[in-house]
Amino acid sequence: MGYRGRFAPSPTGPLHEGSLVAALASWLDARAHRGAWLVRIEDIDTPRCPPGTDEIILGQLAALGLHPDEPPVWQSRRSARYQAALDRLVSADLAYGCACTRAEIAAAYERTIGPRPKHGELVYPGTCRNGTQGRPARAWRFRVQGQVDWQDRRLGPQSQDVAQAVGDFVLKRADGLWAYQLAVVVDDADQGVTDVVRGEDLADNTPRQIALQRALGLPTPRYLHTPLVMAADGHKLSKQNGAAAIDLAAPAARLREAATRLGLRGLPTPEDVGGLLAAAVTAWAASIPGVTGEHGAAATMPQSPH
Ligand code: GLU
Repeated sequence: MGYRGRFAPSPTGPLHEGSLVAALASWLDARAHRGAWLVRIEDIDTPRCPPGTDEIILGQLAALGLHPDEPPVWQSRRSARYQAALDRLVSADLAYGCACTRAEIAAAYERTIGPRPKHGELVYPGTCRNGTQGRPARAWRFRVQGQVDWQDRRLGPQSQDVAQAVGDFVLKRADGLWAYQLAVVVDDADQGVTDVVRGEDLADNTPRQIALQRALGLPTPRYLHTPLVMAADGHKLSKQNGAAAIDLAAPAARLREAATRLGLRGLPTPEDVGGLLAAAVTAWAASIPGVTGEHGAAATMPQSPH
């Protein structure tokens, strides 16, 4: 199958410098492979997506010369596909209903695992693994088994014991919303995505997604996680810490900055978007593994500060 890549923004706010790096990297990789580049609007967490933000993002991409090869897809219109995947997992006993409230999970965690960590998600202690004891199911969880090893085109060999790191994770939330992990796996497969290029903050979700792909009998795409853009305070630049929307008065200059963050050198001082993008494709193709067949990406792409 030919190369198919995608950019999958959550429309919780307009694109900022950090999300532009992920958008550009996925576009460059698709172009360097002479493949298709798709855009998927990840609006399943509808309460967090202000109306109209999807159109703002699509307008920003167009202004930057990043045009999808197929009409965009909206996750909020694809519930039936997610339900079908969940039904398959439940009938194979690879997913189960969970009756626990958040407070119960925290209490069970402290009882069975130990003091609860201050940050991050709690590992689900498995309370409802063998049934809900007659209580109604609120959420649906994936029955996690063992370790997932995978290869990232930039980060190299990766491994995660999913059971230990996250436990049986949620596929459908108690509020009825679909979890990102399930939606992304179903969509990448339905769209025939062969290559996922996205920010490094998502790298630790990859083992969960691979586990789901295997459970559903779906192919695993190749993965490349790009360096993160840090805010002045040392945190990842994100909408949550107030990253500003990209200033589109000089789109070629914004693209050049994003390309530089991806480690691309020798780009012309841009006058126009088309010229800058063409030069960036050439530079990307010369430096990124999987295009030239070399594995020197770590040397050319900057490492994210940790
Ligand atoms: N929607 C996710 C985000 O904006 C990205 C998902 C992905 O690329 O897999 O963070």
